[in-house]
Amino acid sequence: MTCLKPENAGPADTGADALDFNPYDVMAPRSPGQTPAEARNGGRVKAADTRPEGLYLPNNNIQTPNMTSPEYVQLSTAAALTLGIMPGKMHRCGCTRCLNILLTYPEGCRANCAYCGLARHREADRDYADRNFIRVDWPSVPMAKIAQIVGEDPAASPFHRMCISMITHPRSDEDTVSVLKTWTDHVDPDAMPISILSNPTTMQRSDVQTLRDMGSDIFTVALDAATPTLFDRTRGKGVQSPHSWKKYWEILMDARDIFGSQKFGAHIIVGMGETEFEILELVQQLVDMGGHSHMFCFYPEKGSLMDHLPATPRDQWRRVQLGRYLIDYFGVRVDQMKFDSEGRVVEFGLPSGELDAVIDAGLAFRTSGCPGKFAEDISACDRPYGDSPPSDIASYPFQPAAVDLRRIRHQLDMQKPGESYEEGDDLEDY
Ligand code: SF4
Repeated sequence: MTCLKPENAGPADTGADALDFNPYDVMAPRSPGQTPAEARNGGRVKAADTRPEGLYLPNNNIQTPNMTSPEYVQLSTAAALTLGIMPGKMHRCGCTRCLNILLTYPEGCRANCAYCGLARHREADRDYADRNFIRVDWPSVPMAKIAQIVGEDPAASPFHRMCISMITHPRSDEDTVSVLKTWTDHVDPDAMPISILSNPTTMQRSDVQTLRDMGSDIFTVALDAATPTLFDRTRGKGVQSPHSWKKYWEILMDARDIFGSQKFGAHIIVGMGETEFEILELVQQLVDMGGHSHMFCFYPEKGSLMDHLPATPRDQWRRVQLGRYLIDYFGVRVDQMKFDSEGRVVEFGLPSGELDAVIDAGLAFRTSGCPGKFAEDISACDRPYGDSPPSDIASYPFQPAAVDLRRIRHQLDMQKPGESYEEGDDLEDY
């Protein structure tokens, strides 16, 4: 199964120079290289023009078919397994609860985000549909086939939510509408809520309104970088990429107006060089606006411009996960927390008994994202092993068991008296 590939084995818990956080100076992306002319804009795929036939599994050793949205989309490995169109099993997960769909084109995404496996610079060595993204492969399938399978009986589907991820492409806005139309022709939005992971760079306010009018439930903006400087370094001019912090915030504000309270949010990646204070201040800002934050732990995606850098140390990640959960769902404010001179959380702003109860409940450490049918603070979008290998889980795609909680407390350095954890304890029974 994809997420258990040995080459994806995770880096150690500790970051650069044995630090327990990833500092800005260390987290500098490489510069993108030159792409040969024949590979630019999906040149190889278009020249061969191989006809797609049903399911295409990423394989860099064969000619990638000429597939394009809105007829074709890619979907996560977890979604393909859950849908039953690919064989395989996931470590400690029966299925995923979110059907994650990605627009696809031979030219791929025209942006060049430094941490992303789909970035434009990769066209030098890998066709778009063959690229890994958040650590896993994304098979390609006709959109109508997906909608038909789920539409046969949405209430019986294992999925609690469907999400369309836009990419940066001139056709992305109109094709998102077409993909959404194909879906709603088969599946009532009231039977399964829809999320949109937007691409603000090409969007106008009217596009946000159209997606809401068509039945979308939640609209998110992938800020990814927590500060304007980091954004520019990893998604803007720093890597010859077209995105701007200002435009992303413009569309985020449009989403707040159009989708309303609790129905919009932002994705943020932890550990790309921001401080814990900076990221939790942003989480607070989003909550004060009426939105939510969905967190990802930085993982050095193979083939990306940051694949030489350390994954976020688990200490930093757990502190931010816990702080974010308290702000998002527990009414704690960032100004009640205390931070050290490096911006690390030293106090979470809650009496120790209450904090213990939150940690023991485990929800703070599950994957964060748009909710499903279980509870507001349990994400349908569980993205199994999208930000870590199963051997060193960052976001738990399932309810953490007692042994997982012992590991989490060990990483937070908040063990209970008499409690211990040895590396690998959580893998022994599974
Ligand atoms: S816009 Fe999204 S898909 Fe495209 S390179 Fe950036 S993060 Fe990746």
